[in-house]
Amino acid sequence: MSTNRIVIVGAGVVGIATAAQLAEAGHKVTVIDRSGLAQETSKGNAAALAFSDIMPLASPKILRKAPKWLLDPLGPLTIRPSYLPRLAPWLWQFWKASLPARYQASIATQTALMQLAESEMMALVDRAGIAGMVRHDGSLELYESEAEFDAAANGWRQREQVGIAFEHVRGSRLAELQPGLSSRFVAGTFVPGWKTVSEPQAFAQALWAHAERNGAIFEKAQVAGLERSEKGPSVRLADGTMRQADRIVICAGAWSTHLINPITRLRIPLDTERGYNTTLPRDAFDLKRQLIFGNHGFVITPLETGLRVGGAVELGGLDLPPNYARSKSMLEKAATFLPGLKTGGGTEWMGFRPSIPDSLPVIGTLPEDPSVLLAFGNGHLGLTQSAAMGRLVADLVAHRTPSIDISACRPDRF
Ligand SMILES: Cc1cc2nc3c(=O)[nH]c(=O)nc-3n(C[C@H](O)[C@H](O)[C@H](O)COP(=O)(O)OP(=O)(O)OC[C@H]3O[C@@H](n4cnc5c(N)ncnc54)[C@H](O)[C@@H]3O)c2cc1C
Repeated sequence: MSTNRIVIVGAGVVGIATAAQLAEAGHKVTVIDRSGLAQETSKGNAAALAFSDIMPLASPKILRKAPKWLLDPLGPLTIRPSYLPRLAPWLWQFWKASLPARYQASIATQTALMQLAESEMMALVDRAGIAGMVRHDGSLELYESEAEFDAAANGWRQREQVGIAFEHVRGSRLAELQPGLSSRFVAGTFVPGWKTVSEPQAFAQALWAHAERNGAIFEKAQVAGLERSEKGPSVRLADGTMRQADRIVICAGAWSTHLINPITRLRIPLDTERGYNTTLPRDAFDLKRQLIFGNHGFVITPLETGLRVGGAVELGGLDLPPNYARSKSMLEKAATFLPGLKTGGGTEWMGFRPSIPDSLPVIGTLPEDPSVLLAFGNGHLGLTQSAAMGRLVADLVAHRTPSIDISACRPDRF
């Protein structure tokens, strides 16, 4: 195998896992990030390795639910009005991806990606010696009515068809899986194979330590642009200096298209689904596993460092100020779902999910320059899919047939 000098732009969990896979393969890897290791979206997420989450957000179901959700400015889905004109093309693509035929095709790709994500992540954490940072206690999705439970049935049938294990639970079994739940929940679904990490930023940084042991180097700098000369591709830093490479991998999350748009004819519809949460002290509640409130668009996760309450989607771009009333609203709901939850002493956070309208990431090369690889757009699932993204990038760098069919993720699909 030939050794490449590879520059990765972005040290979120996708860039870090990609660095780990490439460094293990013997490449000379430099990761450049303006803010540090896992300091942005990958810092505050809900910690789930959601390998069974194969149902794309862009779906007939969301088209039915969205009108009601949009009426509540603090509900599971909001659009900041001033951002609507810029969002319109993304929403149009989202609507098209939600139609039945595209939706089924996205499930097939997402299923293959999640199977790869699970095998790659579990193998990577073993090689990195951090298997102890993964919790294996599953997740519990909760329903407040029989109608809500029935509405979820189709999604569970689809998961069953691809071998995902789950158990619908009620009564004493429900109470056993999570004592102290409000009586408003009539049923739940326990997914034993769902995993969470002990703390997302610490987990990403531990993966980085593994990449570093294999020779990867970190440089803190703002990347101002990409350039190409007869010597190959390079990145231009904000201080005007250049970093030359054989390959450049763009893992800059929700900011990725800022870097590639000046050098490509592609117009990838990357936008951001902003998400909010509050991390409470550890003694806020005796939480047994991650709880999912699908109808409310948020989850509660037990972390080593506390209890993280949040989620939801706010379509509002990268520049508008956060609206932490959203974090507070989810926390208030959580207190009614878990009577006894101590809601004081929390830290609020907002992050920018990098989202493509069809809920699939972008993996491939730039048509104008195959030495520039694109690996971003994992939306709600970047932590879960990070090791798979790294594997697929390593396949492309080695000119191997990718581990799964990634034609549905190609950069020019829109
Ligand atoms: C509330 C919330 C909950 C979530 N829960 C989960 C979950 O439970 N499980 C899951 O799998 N996913 C979850 N996600 C999604 C997940 O966090 C993201 O998909 C993932 O973090 C994206 O990682 P990334 O590396 O692509 O991007 P980021 O983490 O955003 O990293 C991109 C990096 O690029 C850098 N960068 C950008 N532009 C430049 C530049 N010009 N120069 C230098 N550096 C640059 C940034 O500084 C940043 O560090 C959640 C997201 C949110 C918001």
